Amino acid sequence: DVIVSDEPVVHKTILLGDSGVGKTSLLVKFDTGKFHSGSFSATVGIGFTTKVVTVDNTKVKLQIWDTAGQERFRSVTHAYYRDAHALLLLYDVTNKTSFDNIRAWLGEIREYAQDDVVIMLLGNKADCGLDRAVRREDGERLAREYNVAFMETSAKSGQNVELAFIAVARELKCRS
Ligand code: GDP
Ligand code: MG
Repeated sequence: DVIVSDEPVVHKTILLGDSGVGKTSLLVKFDTGKFHSGSFSATVGIGFTTKVVTVDNTKVKLQIWDTAGQERFRSVTHAYYRDAHALLLLYDVTNKTSFDNIRAWLGEIREYAQDDVVIMLLGNKADCGLDRAVRREDGERLAREYNVAFMETSAKSGQNVELAFIAVARELKCRS
């Protein structure tokens, strides 16, 4: 039998980036609107959250995977990348090393993810003005160099959190 359904297609979306950049916080903020100032334990992030985002009256279903304990470069399994439709790649604007590691992450992504994967680079913790170590322009320049979308976000204030996921959903909708 042919099963006819108006259920939206599920798009596998993965949060990537060094440990401590705010991946879990960003997802929790998007999912619940809440922010906790402590670190989430590594085990909390295992699994995924499903969210439906409406873009131009079309429902886009995101199955968002949080990576935890696998952040160390090259320890995220390649199979995990392979069937991803979208990747949100985070660095922490107060942590220069997390920004410098983005090139390595992008290299890894280019090697193992699908060619048409949607990539959004996010400079998180944009609320931390005084501790900033990475300028907005540096994020923009890197994103241009790799031809990926870019935003600065804050899981604490909520700045651009919904917008980032909506932008990803919009791009996924356009490509499907
Ligand atoms: P993960 O390892 O990438 O999942 O990072 P977490 O979500 O566990 O966050 C690491 C730490 O950064 C925690 O203490 C969070 O409260 C904090 N944090 C995460 N996002 C933000 C943010 O946007 N602003 C500020 N000020 N702190 C944040
Ligand atoms: Mg985490």
